[in-house]
Amino acid sequence: MSVLNSISTEQLRQWDKRHVWHPFTQMQEWDRDDQIIIVKGEGCWLIDSDGKRYLDGVASMWTNVHGHCRRELNEALKEQVDRLEHSTLLGLGSEQSIILAAQLAKITPHGLDRFFYSDNGSTAMEVAVKMAYQYQVHAGRPERSRFITFRNAYHGDTLGAVSVGGIDIYHTTFKPLMFDTLLAPAPYCYRCELGCNRLSCNMECIDSLEEIMKLNAGLVAGLVIEPLVQGAGGMIVQPEGFLRRVRDLCDRYDILMIADEVATGFGRTGAMFACNHEGVIPDIMAISKGIAAGYLPLAATVTGDKVYSAFLGSYSELKTFFHGHTFTGNPLACAVALKSLELFQQDNLLAELQPKISRLKQRLDECVLLSHVGNVRQCGLAAGIELVENKETGAPYPWEEQIGIRVCLEARKRGVFSRPLGNTIVIFPPLVISVSELDMLMNVLQESIRVVTE
Ligand SMILES: *Cc1c(COP(=O)(O)O)cnc(C)c1O
Repeated sequence: MSVLNSISTEQLRQWDKRHVWHPFTQMQEWDRDDQIIIVKGEGCWLIDSDGKRYLDGVASMWTNVHGHCRRELNEALKEQVDRLEHSTLLGLGSEQSIILAAQLAKITPHGLDRFFYSDNGSTAMEVAVKMAYQYQVHAGRPERSRFITFRNAYHGDTLGAVSVGGIDIYHTTFKPLMFDTLLAPAPYCYRCELGCNRLSCNMECIDSLEEIMKLNAGLVAGLVIEPLVQGAGGMIVQPEGFLRRVRDLCDRYDILMIADEVATGFGRTGAMFACNHEGVIPDIMAISKGIAAGYLPLAATVTGDKVYSAFLGSYSELKTFFHGHTFTGNPLACAVALKSLELFQQDNLLAELQPKISRLKQRLDECVLLSHVGNVRQCGLAAGIELVENKETGAPYPWEEQIGIRVCLEARKRGVFSRPLGNTIVIFPPLVISVSELDMLMNVLQESIRVVTE
């Protein structure tokens, strides 16, 4: 073992503060406190440099599927690293990327069988947006350059992905660098921006969407949507039937439907892909987070014959898709992804999720009774608990109070790692979590909410 593997926690903390710039983090505050340094993982647990254990309540940023350091995945990775660590897809094929694409084609929505690899969710969405526009160019409609997006949507942090997103705080600073989109109302039923009530509405948000399509017919390349649940927006779950109606409208107005399954893909919603729940087949689909089970960065933008064939022609026709990333189709990541698909089968994972999803529902129903829980939302094994200052009026806590963060800090003291989205507490554990671990997670979150809000 290298001497660098036995560095003290103090030294690690010092170097971290001196050299590492953490994402979405106010570093001045980070530097003030002693931070947890993770050195090991085991099943659904993360272990820090002092040996303290934390239940991984957010699946290490929504990526982990089969647990940390799962033996079969570790072995697949070790085996592959002794064969080939990396070789490019620019001008060469590579074994693992080929087998993975063939296997993925068996589980993606019908007809989506062409895989353009990249290495994270943002790039998968950049690729989707560029692919959709270039498709329109090849179809002889270069004026179709606009995208319809939804309020509260999140599609990643690169400029194109931010442009098609709909979360204001991510947009304020970078507005001058982004392209304009057509922003449609999102079905955030707890705080409906159209003032409707889900119990009596007819999804007026769908009418607004159609209005946008009508007004801009002939100028829109594609519509971008997180199917069933807007993740980073606050685990905002769409009413049943919404996705289906969006698909129907895209058909009616001849708009490419781009489904961002980066967070929802690979079992999170209880089905392999969120689109499956409503029998929806998007024209383009982005997948990433769970694809390599949380081991390595990997992503793909998936499409079918309609889009793919528009790019075919002689070289001189300039129909080539001019896009690519250096680590595209990395063999290590693909080998782990392949083994992960095997584990889905071997562990009967999707069927095994059902009792956990029901248990989570029960536990969330209890949370509704807490005096500062305004709304709970669940889609499969993803859920959000929205905390409010006033339960009667739904008045939110002022964001400066960092109520979500405070609840998560309490949870941490009790052995759970979680990360909120504003005032919403997130539940997004590895899919292999056991019912008793899920109970522990919910016990700790409920208690932490009580301690902070009551
Ligand atoms: C996380 C996420 C992304 C961005 O993925 P990165 O790997 O962080 O770039 C895009 N879309 C959705 C829905 C996500 O949840």
